[in-house]
Amino acid sequence: MDLTETADEQAFRAEARGWLAEHVPTGALASFDTRAGFEEHRAWEAELHEGRWSAVSWPIEYGGRGADYIKWLVFEEEYYRAEAPGRVNQNGIFLLGPTIMEVGTPEQKARFLPRMASGEDIWCQGWSEPNAGSDLAAIASKAVLDGDHWVISGQKTWASRGAFADWMFGIFRTDPDAERHRGLTFILVPLDLDGVTVRPIAQLDGETGFAEVFLDEVRVPVDCMLGELNRGWQVAMATAGFERGISLRSPERFVQTARRLIALHERRGGEADAGLGDEVVRGWMDAQAYSLHTYWTVSHLLEGGTIGAEASLNKIFWSEMDIRMHAAAQQLLGPWAELTAEAPQARHDARWLDGYLFALAGPIYAGTNEIQRNIIADRVLNLPRGA
Ligand SMILES: Cc1cc2nc3c(=O)[nH]c(=O)nc-3n(C[C@H](O)[C@H](O)[C@H](O)COP(=O)(O)OP(=O)(O)OC[C@H]3O[C@@H](n4cnc5c(N)ncnc54)[C@H](O)[C@@H]3O)c2cc1C
Repeated sequence: MDLTETADEQAFRAEARGWLAEHVPTGALASFDTRAGFEEHRAWEAELHEGRWSAVSWPIEYGGRGADYIKWLVFEEEYYRAEAPGRVNQNGIFLLGPTIMEVGTPEQKARFLPRMASGEDIWCQGWSEPNAGSDLAAIASKAVLDGDHWVISGQKTWASRGAFADWMFGIFRTDPDAERHRGLTFILVPLDLDGVTVRPIAQLDGETGFAEVFLDEVRVPVDCMLGELNRGWQVAMATAGFERGISLRSPERFVQTARRLIALHERRGGEADAGLGDEVVRGWMDAQAYSLHTYWTVSHLLEGGTIGAEASLNKIFWSEMDIRMHAAAQQLLGPWAELTAEAPQARHDARWLDGYLFALAGPIYAGTNEIQRNIIADRVLNLPRGA
């Protein structure tokens, strides 16, 4: 792994930095877990797309720049440094997009990818169900073929940004007699069809972007199946590996948190317990370690390698690091930590409370950390299974 940037990478970085300096909104957008904020973020996605920055690693024909993963990391670094808005179409661009490129038909690529890159279609992920979270293969929502349509019935839950999204990708049971993992199919579902009821769920911070999605004999055209019939599990696991291993949380997000934590310590460290300095230094070192590890993973991918079960190590590492850094900030802030953004005295410190509440979800979403530890025990360490 050579960390020296090439002239081409330096030029790419300068171009991204220049564009972001000109275009990143000066004030924060409203939260994308509100209807108004969701649309503000959609407009931002369109602006990114106009500059061809919405999906830099995608092929040019679909709205990307054909950038390799190193350049993708460079862009992410510049993006977080510029404090640009969160990506409302993250599930589409970083998860579903690469999956469509891998297993989609040419028609599906042409139909879905450009609209995803431009923010015209915003996607949510419909995997979890009330009785299928950690045990995802217990999915009960079913899809039955009827002529040239799938007829889908069941319930999905915890769909991030599902309250406002246009489309949902999910896995559905298509062969009830097959072994659990074998009878599932990956299907793309428009959320404006008859029979779809989207019910928002209030989150810890009171906003309602999360949703449960009820499907009552919803007729979805047969060409919305992604990949092969009854092979949805394999498609979904390829998406999940990519998510945990690289795309969900790029390192600069945590490097920026560490920088803000250091600044907070400089401002408030004198008043707080001196021992917190160690936590701040640890946050910085962990964020740097995660950054270097991601460069390693990306170099491995560029050499033709793949991401396997070791992606689970990554997911545990960043989610626990994020909580530790936010908890240290809460301690540094002392009683000020409880102020929400509406409090006049809170100034920008309320961001820490928001961030802390969201960090607490890190060990749960994208597969809980307990499940990641099971995967590591089983498939990385090859430990014998317990009784
Ligand atoms: C912020 C957030 C966003 C999310 N976004 C989405 C989304 O967009 N789309 C989507 O489909 N889902 C989403 N989810 C759902 C998420 O994937 C599930 O919550 C998660 O997989 C756990 O499933 P569960 O909630 O049913 O908990 P359960 O599976 O019921 O687990 C409950 C507890 O038991 C533990 N446990 C369960 N089985 C085992 C085992 N075999 N060994 C050890 N411990 C075990 C778990 O680790 C957990 O602590 C999101 C969740 C959160 C918090």
